[in-house]
Amino acid sequence: MFIDSHAHLEGKRYDSDREVVLARAKQGGIEAYLAVGNGDGPDTADCGIQLAEKYSGKAQFPHIWASVGIHPHEASLANDAAYARMEQWARHPKVVAWGEIGLDYFYDHSPRDVQKTVFLKQMELARAAKLPIIIHCRPSENSENAWNDCLALIAEHWTSTGLGGILHCFTGTGEHARRGLDLGFMISFAGNITFPKAQNIRDAAQIVPLDRMLIETDSPYLAPIPYRGQRNEPAFVKEVARQIAELRRTSAEEIGFQTTQNFYRFFKLGEKNESVGTRA
Ligand SMILES: [Zn+2]
Ligand SMILES: [Zn+2]
Repeated sequence: MFIDSHAHLEGKRYDSDREVVLARAKQGGIEAYLAVGNGDGPDTADCGIQLAEKYSGKAQFPHIWASVGIHPHEASLANDAAYARMEQWARHPKVVAWGEIGLDYFYDHSPRDVQKTVFLKQMELARAAKLPIIIHCRPSENSENAWNDCLALIAEHWTSTGLGGILHCFTGTGEHARRGLDLGFMISFAGNITFPKAQNIRDAAQIVPLDRMLIETDSPYLAPIPYRGQRNEPAFVKEVARQIAELRRTSAEEIGFQTTQNFYRFFKLGEKNESVGTRA
């Protein structure tokens, strides 16, 4: 059993075969996935909810949980109307997290001061909604800037909530992982852990305790080897498990089992079965 803790399947790239992709995941042992709700920006941040409503609870598909949030790329599109809408969406029974939110200094699609303001505002909203947060953090080339800013903002404005969070698609060093763990966060590894140059990610995966780890695809991005360069999909999360298993000298099934348990525990979800409909 496996859970893909982070994927974006709402885009056009899946319009022609979304149900095939979902069925393939289920056949491959992926029993659930978290439909991350960023959409193209705040207006479409309910995209994960839409997928969960449409496909969840059907035996041929994985169970689908959802999140809502404004990605740092689209931070400059945030406004009060968008926040108000998201507060409503966050009450939907399938929504288990607020995210992905955070800082992206690699692309700088929104100015950094705006990214910080919108990140802070969403931490406030997530606190009020009593939801954990999913963090996207990407520094500029050869820099730790976004990590330092992001971890400092979390330490100052989030840790005290006790709601926790996930450092998604972890690309930092072992030191960043340690700092994230100290802040009470889960660390989620994606397909880029299989890339030859990603030794820092493999190093981090060796020190993260198995009960603090999640796995994800971040579909459609970052397909793991041997699918690198293709459109990613939840079924490929097994390649992430396989890579971590190799590093930890265990089996992909064991990593799948452990990260599945972690997912249910972290999100306070009931026993793993299709009848689970709402948060515990
Ligand atoms: Zn991300
Ligand atoms: Zn993502």
